[in-house]
Amino acid sequence: MSVEPQPSAAVPLCRRCPRLGGPVTFGYCMGCEQQRPCPKVTDCWWETFDIVRYLQEHLPADQVEHLLRAQPKPKIVSLVELIAEARKRVES
Ligand code: SF4
Repeated sequence: MSVEPQPSAAVPLCRRCPRLGGPVTFGYCMGCEQQRPCPKVTDCWWETFDIVRYLQEHLPADQVEHLLRAQPKPKIVSLVELIAEARKRVES
């Protein structure tokens, strides 16, 4: 999923990712967990715009509820998953 909260914006929203340590777009955040939003998407974007409202307008209610209740995975688990995903991309 690569959606932007302001489809008319010429420049995509971007911020520093606390998990990756570099810049990512909002579109990345909305699809980086096997085409689903990152569990930290509300934590990371609430200061930029009304992310909860955006999610409610663009996702099924059960996915929004899941995101709002999501507890981020421990950093080591996220790192292991990111490494596994990177390996898959390199192998394919
Ligand atoms: S929502 Fe997830 S992928 Fe996006 S900046 Fe936050 S931690 Fe990184």
